[in-house]
Amino acid sequence: MNPPLGIGRRTPGAGGVRTRFRWFRPAPLLAVIVVVAGLPLLLGADDVVLGQIEFVLALSLAAIGLNIVSGYAGQLALGPGAMFAIGAYTAAVLAAHFPWAAGLPFMCVSGTLAAVLAGLVIAIPSLRAGGFYLGMVTLLIAAAVPTVVSNLAATGGSGGILLLQVSWFNQVPGGILLYLLMVVLVVVFLIFSSALLHSRLGRRFGALRSGEVLASSLGISGYRTKLLAFVLGAIPTGMAGVLYVYSQQVMSPQSATTNLSISLLAVVVIGGFGTVVGPLLGSAIVFGSGEFLGGLQELQGIVYGVLLLLVVEFMPEGLAGSSQPWGRFLGRVSGGRLRRTTTAGEVSVQPRSSAALDVPRIANSNKVVLTGVSKSFGGIHAVSCVDLVVSPGAVHAVIGPNGSGKTTLVNLISGYQHPDSGEIALGERRLDGLRPYRLSQLGIARTFQTPRLNLETTVIENVMVAADRWVRGRDFSSVLRGPGGRRADRESRARALQCLASVGLAGLADEPADKMPHGIQRLIEVARAISMSPWFILLDEPAAGLATAEIENLTQVIRRLTQSGVGILLVEHNVPVVLDISDEITVLNFGKVIRHGSSEDVRRDPDVIQVFLGVTETDAGASFVFGQGERDAGGA
Ligand code: ADP
Ligand code: MG
Repeated sequence: MNPPLGIGRRTPGAGGVRTRFRWFRPAPLLAVIVVVAGLPLLLGADDVVLGQIEFVLALSLAAIGLNIVSGYAGQLALGPGAMFAIGAYTAAVLAAHFPWAAGLPFMCVSGTLAAVLAGLVIAIPSLRAGGFYLGMVTLLIAAAVPTVVSNLAATGGSGGILLLQVSWFNQVPGGILLYLLMVVLVVVFLIFSSALLHSRLGRRFGALRSGEVLASSLGISGYRTKLLAFVLGAIPTGMAGVLYVYSQQVMSPQSATTNLSISLLAVVVIGGFGTVVGPLLGSAIVFGSGEFLGGLQELQGIVYGVLLLLVVEFMPEGLAGSSQPWGRFLGRVSGGRLRRTTTAGEVSVQPRSSAALDVPRIANSNKVVLTGVSKSFGGIHAVSCVDLVVSPGAVHAVIGPNGSGKTTLVNLISGYQHPDSGEIALGERRLDGLRPYRLSQLGIARTFQTPRLNLETTVIENVMVAADRWVRGRDFSSVLRGPGGRRADRESRARALQCLASVGLAGLADEPADKMPHGIQRLIEVARAISMSPWFILLDEPAAGLATAEIENLTQVIRRLTQSGVGILLVEHNVPVVLDISDEITVLNFGKVIRHGSSEDVRRDPDVIQVFLGVTETDAGASFVFGQGERDAGGA
């Protein structure tokens, strides 16, 4: 197989690019460990105090799990207490019934496995629907758990399970040793969670958090990615349950009420959604205040409420969010979400490097063929009986006034909408009916009229998440920073940088994506599409909002793409650009094809010029756009 668009899988990175993956900074992390490990010296090392800190530590582990599901992957999971309780109860029930099951290692394994299984059972049916439905299902399950366990004999009914009374249960390790062990476990999961955030899996989670529409346009299966997030989140949450029951030696329905889930949600919000140390910080405040400020216990609900309001009002990113000065520090400690891996000075790739664009992916002779495609929304015939062919190595432009069905056409080809009638095929293969992520895997990339980026990260990470699909590498090797994973991350970064360079954006690689104007965001989408080495790219108004020089650059990019065999469907309002680079033009009006021909044919067609371009023939070379004043009406 030829290397995709010249970016071979094994090609080393662009010359002069040094990358540093600063996912782990030992010194500050050591400081955090020393502080947490030293707490007993500060607060007293008797069993009661140790038990209290262990309680907070266990719940911070549960919050780390919730943060993976909600903060990283953006899923509305409202019942983390269920996973916690299932982990705790499984380990406790087994330990209470079988002497061989009463050791800490076995309890950790059994409880965590049970939580993961429960997570899968809950997730598989409810994830398809997602969103609000997922939130309701998880909350209802969390509400059901205490009722179920208080009615089961095996779980000790409403009294719960007292490991203290189990003759063969000995808390070994116990005391300060147990405490230190729990500190180590929390730190291990913090490091894991930081590494996860900056791995290829973390990038996929980020894309998902920004929306399933975005994720699927990059060939990411939303469903599979969500499942993975649930499983990964259930591991620390389930283990938290085990550590809780092991250190407190009691598990009862009162410890598993919906209050627990709500408190955990409060922890993650107050600490900072999607930040690495947020769960630890939030737990210290939410659960620590309850444990150590005795009088507060009765007022807990009010205290959380006020805290939540304060956080939402004054620091919506949470205590560890990067807009807080200490949040930036904490981000540095742990590799917070927004991270600059190179400084601008280190990026020495020439803008407009064409290296990324010279060689086609695999010789593709198949065309995308639309036959009689129609799509209505209620009474609106957005697309009516459209025939259209996009050929490899050619630009097919679709023009027409606002609301004429151009974006709908792009959505139909990329699988976001399905035709009411007609066929879409790539060679022999029917495309209509396939899901967007499958189409993107099949080599049909797209950009969006309203740019869709992960605005919480950098420009280059937005491209890397797409480049990842083309660089062979294993998710877990990337998380654990194995040699294969590191190599894949480096290749992915180099590839992303080349693609950014090809649209002239290499210099912006490490800027935050949310600082980019809309026009540049569109160009980032183009670079992102290129990095997937597609056969076809559907561009929805890529030149809108670009300056003249940037448009010139974009036209050259499109030319080079077609020279390397990529087929382009170009929806664009900028008529000179369209006339300049298109091989074929289709004119739509009210969803119907009213003209189709070469650039020359359309340029000479008096109807098109007058009705759609709103100018006389002699002006046709001038810089005009049509539908002025009503542009940018939105769309997918
Ligand atoms: P264009 O991209 O050419 O401006 P669109 O494809 O966005 O046009 O829209 C074509 C027509 O279909 C418009 O009348 C629009 O209001 C309608 N339309 C598009 N998407 C939807 C939708 N999801 N639901 C209802 N109507 C829609
Ligand atoms: Mg549109």
